[in-house]
Amino acid sequence: MYVKSVSWTTNNSKGRSNANTKRFPVVYYHDESGNFHSKRISRLEVPFYKMQICRQITIFCDQCEEKFTILVKKNQQPTCPKCLS
Ligand SMILES: [Zn+2]
Repeated sequence: MYVKSVSWTTNNSKGRSNANTKRFPVVYYHDESGNFHSKRISRLEVPFYKMQICRQITIFCDQCEEKFTILVKKNQQPTCPKCLS
């Protein structure tokens, strides 16, 4: 699971100004095969999913002299996918 973002959404599309509108968190993510999903999560799960948020970066590996676009989690060092395997 590659989490793109966690955001709050409402049931009611026109209810932005309505303070009584129920809001709930939704996680947007890609699965292993690259398909995009969104899933409603509970309020308690928000910090967990926020820690999983990935950013897409491009790295250049000195060892195999190739460029890769990879997803890394926060605080995670980018590593070459080719040299790892
Ligand atoms: Zn490499």
